[in-house]
Amino acid sequence: MRPSHVEHIGIAVTSLEETMPVFELLTGSKCYSIEEVADQKVKTAFFKVGETKIELLEATCAESPIAKFIEKNGGRGGVHHIAFNVESVAEALEEAKKAGIRLIDVQPRKGAENLNIAFLHPKSTCGVLFEFCEQP
Ligand code: ZN
Repeated sequence: MRPSHVEHIGIAVTSLEETMPVFELLTGSKCYSIEEVADQKVKTAFFKVGETKIELLEATCAESPIAKFIEKNGGRGGVHHIAFNVESVAEALEEAKKAGIRLIDVQPRKGAENLNIAFLHPKSTCGVLFEFCEQP
C-alpha cells in the first residue's frame, strides 16, 4: 500500500476552544479549518505541520466515539488515531484484509475535508487506530 506520508494525527480533546491556542503555539500556525463531521459526531479543527496535519476532535454528543474515548481515557484527551495517505483507500483495504487485518470500514466513506477514508480495527494494529486517507 505504500503510504506517501502521515496525512494527519487525530487528537481527541475535551474542548476545541481551550485546546486550539496550545496547538497554534505548537504548530506556529493558525487553525485553517473547523468542520463538523455529522457522520462521526465530531467537530474538527485542523493545523498544518509541513505536509502532515493535526486534527483536533471534539465530541458533539455523548454517543460520539470521541466522547467514549475520552471517558475510557479518564476524562482526558489524547492521541486518537494516525492517518496514512494512500493512493487508493479501496486497494489499501483490500490489501489489509488479505493480510488478515480486521477492518472497521469495509469500504471507503467520506471524512473531514471531503477525503475518502476508512479505519482499521486497533485489535489488529497494536492497539493503535489507523485510518487510510485518499485525496478526493
Ligand atoms: Zn482522521
